[in-house]
Amino acid sequence: MLNSSKGMLEVICGPMFSGKTEELIRRLKRAEFAQLKVIAFKHKIDNRMTIECINAHNGDKFKAIALDNPEDIRLFVGQETDIDIIAIDEVQFFSSSIISVLLELVDNKKRVIVSGLDLDFRGMPFGCISQLLTFADYVTKLKAVCVKCGQDAHFTQRLIDDKIARFDDPVIIVGAQERYQSRCRACFILDNKYWTEIKRL
Ligand SMILES: [Zn+2]
Repeated sequence: MLNSSKGMLEVICGPMFSGKTEELIRRLKRAEFAQLKVIAFKHKIDNRMTIECINAHNGDKFKAIALDNPEDIRLFVGQETDIDIIAIDEVQFFSSSIISVLLELVDNKKRVIVSGLDLDFRGMPFGCISQLLTFADYVTKLKAVCVKCGQDAHFTQRLIDDKIARFDDPVIIVGAQERYQSRCRACFILDNKYWTEIKRL
């Protein structure tokens, strides 16, 4: 028998506003058009599991289960043995225990597609995604447009009350207005602490 149905891991990464979720949804809709069965997940910041949607900036949507424990992905997929494709949006928010869950699915001949930020606002690798990139069969690294100069951007700059966020700023600052901009390497402003951390890698 030909071994034609091997699993695979695809990673779609890039900064904010680079179209990662659009690309993920495009692949999922194409798969459904080909009569393949898809199940999608996204991270739920609190602990409740709900049925929600993956939402792209261009308005595209795809139904997804929101959860925070990667082990629950195994439970959902285990209940439905005919699933062909498992998708995860914003994979960087999950703990690194998602790596073994996803690789197990690949080993069970599933096609796994994840999308997420490869770098955080400090320009550092974002959680589990750096390892997923190394395990991936296919990597798509998308670029956004730099808001300062219009060149291709692969960094995401975080601004707090219109000032560049510092390396050690907390993830959530109560009462502060925060926003994000995609920026190219020339326009991305590094905190001095970046080099200390890079030398430690
Ligand atoms: Zn620029």
